[in-house]
Amino acid sequence: MTKQRVLSGVQPTGNLHLGNYLGAIRNWVEGQSQYDNFFCVVDLHAITVPHNPKTLAADTLNIAALYLACGIDLEHSTIFVQSHVSAHSELAWLLNCITPLNWLQDMIQFKEKAVKQGQNVGVGLLDYPVLMAADILLYNADKVPVGEDQKQHIELTRDIVDRFNHQFGQGQVVLKSPDPLILAAGARVMSLTDGTKKMSKSDPSDLSRINLLDPPDLIQTKIKKCKTDPVKGLIFGDPARPECNNLLTLYQLMSGQTKEAVAAECAEMGWGQFKPLLTETAIAHLKPIQDKYHEIINDQGYLESVLRDGKEKAAAIANQTLLKTKQALGFSLSL
Ligand code: ATP
Ligand code: MG
Repeated sequence: MTKQRVLSGVQPTGNLHLGNYLGAIRNWVEGQSQYDNFFCVVDLHAITVPHNPKTLAADTLNIAALYLACGIDLEHSTIFVQSHVSAHSELAWLLNCITPLNWLQDMIQFKEKAVKQGQNVGVGLLDYPVLMAADILLYNADKVPVGEDQKQHIELTRDIVDRFNHQFGQGQVVLKSPDPLILAAGARVMSLTDGTKKMSKSDPSDLSRINLLDPPDLIQTKIKKCKTDPVKGLIFGDPARPECNNLLTLYQLMSGQTKEAVAAECAEMGWGQFKPLLTETAIAHLKPIQDKYHEIINDQGYLESVLRDGKEKAAAIANQTLLKTKQALGFSLSL
């Protein structure tokens, strides 16, 4: 039986943090042997907000190296850079022309990020979900492992698929509808400085997140300074204590314990006892990833060869879908 296909990506907008890892990449790694996987560094998405052209290429390579360091295995998975496969931009344009404007204006991420940009909102930010639909649909992906914040974009992708197939499929399925794959725990890791906001690469405060490459002393400082509450006894799931729920969840996932075991261990604890425990756990959990990352990033030749192979494999599949889509839309393809 052929394996189902998985597609996902992270944008090189900054350093990977625990939210990206626990919400998305951990999910990619755990499931990878069951699926035929494509993981891209979505650099075209990174320019939907103001970016630094001097660091974009290096940031892109760093993220690819972190995929490998986190355990993406090339035996099961293909790693590539989105902008290396031009079919992504081309399919996004074709899908733009069948996507109603008001679908995009309703997207939560657009509304939140547009507010942050003030007067400087580019069309690309509004169009982000159509490019994301193109990323997924080019590979006929069955499953898209993402954090909770991306669920709405996958639902939009499904709506675009239905609309396209209905208008242009002539009874055939030209584009395939994907399903989100979202973990129960870690799907929405919250900011260290505000337990009601998700942890994000683009948060201006570095204290709001733990980056996968943060050295031990910085992890210690961030956890020492993170927001807590004055209540003794740490419990999951109290809506009045979002920071408590978030920090316990981080401890649970990085220590590899069950939720019940953590709830029992921390039921009587105060923050003074919990914070050093979380610090130690985070440092130990990230150490092997950091060691592996440094090995890979110091071997640029290897990294580039991985991305070259990835580009070739990805483009072969993507170009077939693009051709099929253009045929369905009625383009002249014979010359
Ligand atoms: P940005 O702030 O630039 O949007 P980001 O931190 O949201 O960056 P993305 O590159 O947009 O990261 O998302 C990559 C993947 O990480 C997606 O699958 C997304 O759902 C997931 N993700 C992002 N933030 C979190 C979070 N706080 N908790 C769980 N998953 C997350
Ligand atoms: Mg994001």
